[in-house]
Amino acid sequence: MGLDPATRAVHAGERRVSGAPSAPAIHLAATYLSAGDPAELPYAYGRHGNPTWEALEAALGELEEATALVFASGQAASFALVAALTEERPRVLFPHDGYYGTRALARMLERRGVEPAVVDLTDLGAVERELARGAAAIWAETPTNPFLRVQDLGALARLARRAGARLVVDNTTATSALQRPLELGADATVTSLTKAAAGHADVVLGSISTRDAALLERLRAWRTHAGGIAGPVEAWIALRGLRTLPLRIGRQSETALALAQRLERDPRARRVHYPGLAGACLELARAQMPRGFGPLLSFEVEGGAAAAEAVVRGSRLIRPGTSFGGVESSWERRARWKGEDAPEGLIRLSVGIEDGADLARDLDMALAALG
Ligand code: PLP
Repeated sequence: MGLDPATRAVHAGERRVSGAPSAPAIHLAATYLSAGDPAELPYAYGRHGNPTWEALEAALGELEEATALVFASGQAASFALVAALTEERPRVLFPHDGYYGTRALARMLERRGVEPAVVDLTDLGAVERELARGAAAIWAETPTNPFLRVQDLGALARLARRAGARLVVDNTTATSALQRPLELGADATVTSLTKAAAGHADVVLGSISTRDAALLERLRAWRTHAGGIAGPVEAWIALRGLRTLPLRIGRQSETALALAQRLERDPRARRVHYPGLAGACLELARAQMPRGFGPLLSFEVEGGAAAAEAVVRGSRLIRPGTSFGGVESSWERRARWKGEDAPEGLIRLSVGIEDGADLARDLDMALAALG
């Protein structure tokens, strides 16, 4: 049945058998009764499997028509994915402007034999040249955090395939409700569920989805033996949030587009970054994200760090703070994080589900701090 994502999110992974509870139980078990060969048992030890994670994995997997694995955080998932991808070949192409934590992880793993190559993934010629030097994978992230640049996943998948490499996509900013990388040729997606997927700023969790059975087995082994497992309570909370993801992110995307357009007209804001604004990447963004452009935008203000901090402190509704995708709008001056390459005056705004007119008034009031 060709169901709408909003319908699929409500029912994904549900067990339609008589007596099945509407929400899964939270299994707080480190051990399970077991004797004999553990490989033949559904559960034996808590680091190997848990029915509450599996309820979340069933739903996540169904939404992407793939198999999903959940991890302790987005970073735990990214670590397992880099580790699994580089078992045979060490080189991975990372985007030059994506989440700085991914580049930090890649640099740490460089001391362990991984060879990260940082490339502008919107420059397909540069990607092709880097692939010619041999690579295990391209690590795409689109739209990027915090510049919201859009990479062409179909083109990257073709280049990767021709070079015998894999394409993996960090789908955190868009989520599977807005963007389906596996359908565009990607081999795996990695998502920080901490953000819009769980959506209420109350859990830290990550996931990987893939249709590649061999990669899945390697990822499962990395999770089991490196130990980056999800807590069952967190998995339960994330599944509850996932049920409303399309509803939330649809509204967030509408309001984010309206606020980005408003900021573009405001002389106090410089260089507004949002995939839905008129510009070089709009056509690609529309094709890749036909249901909306996501909750995240960024813009710069004149006056550097002090001016941007004054704006962030000047709001009454938009919460000063990091992360994104939650029901509550939040923002921060991005360069306050050591390791982030953003300009001093760049503010990243995550649009929540509040009324758009209320948010526009709050934004206006905060920008008044610029005088
Ligand atoms: N990927 C992206 C694009 C992110 O923005 C983040 C966190 O901000 C992560 C991955 C890491 O996720 P987590 O904080 O859940 O470890």
